[in-house]
Amino acid sequence: MKGKMMKKPINSNPLLLAWDTPFGTPPFNLFKNTHFRPAIEETIKSASAEIKVIAENQAPPDFENTIAALDRAGAKLGDVTSVLFNLNSAETSKELQAIAQDVSPLLTRFSNDITMNEELFRKVKEIYNSRDSRDLNTEELMLLDKNYRNFLLGGAGLDDDKKAKFREISEELSRLSVKFEENVLDDTNAFELHITERDDLEGLPEGVVEMASMEARDRKKEGWLFTLHFPSYTPFMKYSARRELREKMYRAYSSRAYHGDSHDNTGMALRIASLRLELARILGFENFAELVLGDRMADTTIKVSSFLEELHSASRPAARRDYESVKAFAFENGHNGTFERWDWAYYSEKLQKAKYDIDDEVLKPYFVLENAERAIFDLAGSLYGLKFISKEEIPVYHKEVKTWEVQDRDGSFLAILYIDYFPRPGKIGGAWMRSFREQRIENGADVRPLISIVANFTRPTETKPSLLSFNEVTTFLHEFGHSLHGMLSRCTYESLSGTSVARDFVELPSQFMENYAYEKEWLAKWAYHYKRRERINDELIEKIKASSTFNEGYACSRQLGFAFLDMAWHTITTPVTTGIIDFESSAMEKTELLPPVDGSNMSVSFGHIFGGGYAAGYYGYKWAEVLDADAFKYFKETGILNSLTAKSFRENILEKGGTDKPMNLYLKFRGREPSIDAFLERSGLTAPLG
Ligand SMILES: [Zn+2]
Repeated sequence: MKGKMMKKPINSNPLLLAWDTPFGTPPFNLFKNTHFRPAIEETIKSASAEIKVIAENQAPPDFENTIAALDRAGAKLGDVTSVLFNLNSAETSKELQAIAQDVSPLLTRFSNDITMNEELFRKVKEIYNSRDSRDLNTEELMLLDKNYRNFLLGGAGLDDDKKAKFREISEELSRLSVKFEENVLDDTNAFELHITERDDLEGLPEGVVEMASMEARDRKKEGWLFTLHFPSYTPFMKYSARRELREKMYRAYSSRAYHGDSHDNTGMALRIASLRLELARILGFENFAELVLGDRMADTTIKVSSFLEELHSASRPAARRDYESVKAFAFENGHNGTFERWDWAYYSEKLQKAKYDIDDEVLKPYFVLENAERAIFDLAGSLYGLKFISKEEIPVYHKEVKTWEVQDRDGSFLAILYIDYFPRPGKIGGAWMRSFREQRIENGADVRPLISIVANFTRPTETKPSLLSFNEVTTFLHEFGHSLHGMLSRCTYESLSGTSVARDFVELPSQFMENYAYEKEWLAKWAYHYKRRERINDELIEKIKASSTFNEGYACSRQLGFAFLDMAWHTITTPVTTGIIDFESSAMEKTELLPPVDGSNMSVSFGHIFGGGYAAGYYGYKWAEVLDADAFKYFKETGILNSLTAKSFRENILEKGGTDKPMNLYLKFRGREPSIDAFLERSGLTAPLG
């Protein structure tokens, strides 16, 4: 009785009603947490009904009634989930987190119901197998390919025995990855370095000491506590003058999940690699990497390994140079005995300071947030003719969120941009770009996107405006680059529009924008000291540039080592059951410079590949850097604000989403395949060896 009285009719849920707001933006002011679960249940129901109609359609399957129809299905569900998951990252609460967790299995079941639907797969397969005679354009072929691959990798089309095995392995793999990460985290948390003598803090900066003292107080201890979490571990290794303590920290860090106890990940890593091989074989691939790479820009293991090898041999001399110069500096400055892994960060930091002597405190007064914002918008104006018009009437989820209407050169409406700059208790760390709506064509009309940038930049204080660190300036440019990819999109299908591109291509537009932070032509326009009102001087700009290549050879070598290890685990063709140390060292040996440390192991704590989603994808970090350097070089050759080059970048890359293979898009922009030369040059890896 009570339940019935309480139950309001479904159409009073503002998530489900048409959004009668400026530009059809979400009316955040009307949403309550209690609206989410019913809205998601309701929209899953209607999306399922739409899918059922497609699957049971008696007409012969074709692109329009199956593939395009699948792309259109569940649009309202997409709107509701974007609101929920964006809020859960940017402005969450215990209650909202619980709701997100609560609805996640419903969403997983819904997407499994699609890929496991045999009738639907039969239709998709029929269209796929006859694609050559269907007169489809490139975008349509890409969408068809993407759909077919999703079904295939979801296990559709396997016979019943294989399907059962497939499901069993997938479930075990998802359990194992979670457990893998848990073990690493447990071992990370299990260690602490407790310092009680002030002398043992030698070399550590004030702020680091203060943090350690707070950490100690939190755990009801005297003195100072250091842990293996990055904010504590990294500065300790960089600054602590106590070599034996650095060694202790290093050994603890590099032996996490490798102590032969219940948290040991050795068996787990071997098992995950072997199960992935088995899964790949069931789906008809030679190994797991071939399965993963299928839709990437580097779409075969051969392409990935020749890329890594090429970069390795090109960067090796610079890596050696960096190693030798830090080592020589160490010995000149009182180091004796062997030069070990726990000495690297410490002496690198000292050498960097000696060579460049700039830090954030010197630069920050020049980087006022409001000036950076205007400069970035102006940059988009110079490159693409965009205009940003502040729109305070657009509803926001927090009063600090700023909104703009973005117009194209001819004044036509392109997108809505939200920016949410500052940290709050309900916001997760880091910075990201997401959308509340993606661009697509619907019933012949161009639906323009709603794009959001969320960051955790330095807040203004009572006496100072928000002053960004250099890293925050490049982060702003990076996320803005992603947002241009979303805002400029001109595609037909939502699943291919904006940033819905291959994983090793998606960082091109974002990293590309970061390049401007090193250009005098751009910096000099807006970087004025907030008090002294004077422009950033050329010497500082030069120092920013020069210090950006410091130890890049060594850093490249390390990244390559991880990428080689990742590829080694995912190109095995028979299960590996023992010898994890030998396996690891044979994969990474050629990139090593410092002596190995007994009792340490990288694979067992390599969460990117065994816990997260970077399996056979770690190479992507370097791949994207090579791409953005190569693209920016073209701008440097023609003028970094050259409107013709910008037009080509816009039309061939930023507008195209995933409507063609990334290499084709790149070729159209650049006229040739990317080469590693620009990357080597930018990172100082070609500088004469001294
Ligand atoms: Zn990014």
